[in-house]
Amino acid sequence: MPPRIQILPENLCNQIAAGEVVERPSSVVKELLENSLDAGATSVQIDLERGGKSLVRVADDGSGMNREDLLLCLERHATSKIRQDADLFQLTTLGFRGEALPSIAAVSRLQISSRVEESEEGWEVRVEAGRVRGVEAVGRPRGTEIEVRDMFFRLPARKKFLRRDETELGHISETVTRQALARPEVQFQLRHQGRTLLDLPRHPRPEERIGALLGRPVLRQLLPLDFEAPWGKLHGFLSEPALTRSAPNAVYTYINGRFIRDRLVQHALLEGYRNIIPKGRYPVTVLFLDMAPEQVDVNVHPTKHEVRFRDPQGVHELVATAIRQALSRPGCGDSGAIPDPATPLRVPSSSPVATVPAAQEARRGVQEALAGYAARLDRSVPPPPAPNFAFPAAPFPERRASEPDEARFADNSYFQRFHLIGQYRGSYLLCQEGDDLVLIDQHAAHERIGFERLKAQVGTSGIEKQALLFPLVLELGAVEFASFSEKLARLESLGFELEEFGQRAFAIKAVPQLLQQVDAEALLRDVAGELAAIGSSELVDEALDRVLMTMACHTMVRANQVLGREQMLALLRDLDSIDFSSRCPHGRPVFARLTQADVEKLFHRR
Ligand code: ADP
Ligand code: MG
Repeated sequence: MPPRIQILPENLCNQIAAGEVVERPSSVVKELLENSLDAGATSVQIDLERGGKSLVRVADDGSGMNREDLLLCLERHATSKIRQDADLFQLTTLGFRGEALPSIAAVSRLQISSRVEESEEGWEVRVEAGRVRGVEAVGRPRGTEIEVRDMFFRLPARKKFLRRDETELGHISETVTRQALARPEVQFQLRHQGRTLLDLPRHPRPEERIGALLGRPVLRQLLPLDFEAPWGKLHGFLSEPALTRSAPNAVYTYINGRFIRDRLVQHALLEGYRNIIPKGRYPVTVLFLDMAPEQVDVNVHPTKHEVRFRDPQGVHELVATAIRQALSRPGCGDSGAIPDPATPLRVPSSSPVATVPAAQEARRGVQEALAGYAARLDRSVPPPPAPNFAFPAAPFPERRASEPDEARFADNSYFQRFHLIGQYRGSYLLCQEGDDLVLIDQHAAHERIGFERLKAQVGTSGIEKQALLFPLVLELGAVEFASFSEKLARLESLGFELEEFGQRAFAIKAVPQLLQQVDAEALLRDVAGELAAIGSSELVDEALDRVLMTMACHTMVRANQVLGREQMLALLRDLDSIDFSSRCPHGRPVFARLTQADVEKLFHRR
């Protein structure tokens, strides 16, 4: 009897590989762009027909290939980018798997022409459904041009999955945007049916590129970020709290220049924005995380969108801390823009604990602190330590003249330098700054102040525990149990008392007093799930924050309360003494600004 197991023919292998790498025209564009960039191109032209379904052509001025390489590049696992296994952990190129070209060749009509600097003539090879149909010499400039026609022409089953031209074109634009944001020093042109869709000239600084791709208004609401840790660096731009989206589609993150969509990084990013933007909203970011190549494994997924970090927690902390520092800058969010009232603002519903009277006893300590605070509205507080990161001077040329200057950040007197005009309807402070009219929502301001103080108080005096009369049992899966066990110390520092109980369970013997009304078992189960999935969880911190937020909201000065001049001045001082002063803890703005031009427009004086 012949063996039942067979080694598959080469071409079938390539089709299988294509199933992973080549999903739609935009995947072809992604692979070809990566190759052009790896070849050192300074200019890349992309031409498309029918959303890339009938043609994707990518031409570059990179290093090119000689005749031999031109034929080799079509072989499976043929690459010039790595040679030995150690290279896998020292990657500096976007590609390395040697799979893209044979995969694309297996499912289309492919033509590659290329010339290297040293050779007088170039070479062209034609391939159809994986078979080489001809090789000939051609005259052409240095670089490479790759044409992919009739995608999936022999694979009707896969062709059915392709969408309308516009949809495919949308995916391609997104792919080009991702690459182009990271490489402002490379020129990109994108044409569809002969029409130019993108024409991005080379630029040494990323701002121009961001403006061209994401729009000038977005650019004006981005803050620069530059943060260094001993083993890595995070730099780029992130949106002010006023600019958010309903989906994470404008969260652009890169690791060593490679666009990635990583759960851990996204989680850390949102952690940085926690209590600053409304829940369920996402910021706009173009952030580059640079680290030694051996710190990150990109060989996890065929399309390389996911990565594995050697120190996931370190990365999480770096990202979250850097973002929080950038956002804690006083006056952050003051781009001169009036917040768009049309932007939906979802405020988190308060947790049950805060409304249950039984919780009051437990909260007394913190409430005393609050009452003390409320009584001493005018007492000054020592300024927080200056953040250890640098702002590039003059971030964007388009900023308005009223832009807050560096000096005011340095001495924490952003709000104190406002000239107080008075109070409107017992709810808003009216101030003048330069020629601008600034309105401060006193309730939102007090909420943020109260919240930050409560947090500081909890931070210094520690979280009190409440022993449970009947310990709860938390049973976990094997993976969850393992990741949960690693984090016991952290959970105990937050006020839980946990004891191993049987094989895969913990007995919950005490809970943080502030959370005694919360279903601790459900909360910790969610924490275990997150820890297993991404190695980090802030669910407990979030739950604690929610309680503090509600307390801050109920105890603080409300709207409709007439304040004396001294109290108003104290409020401005207090705003200067805390971080994140531009937003209330629910993500609502604390202040809005009307420029002289805005006011004049109201009276048709322009
Ligand atoms: P990988 O990029 O993983 O090496 P590919 O199948 O994408 O695998 O490409 C195979 C090889 O072909 C590359 O390693 C490179 O040497 C060569 N190559 C592909 N595209 C280009 C290009 N635009 N310019 C120069 N060389 C290229
Ligand atoms: Mg490649």
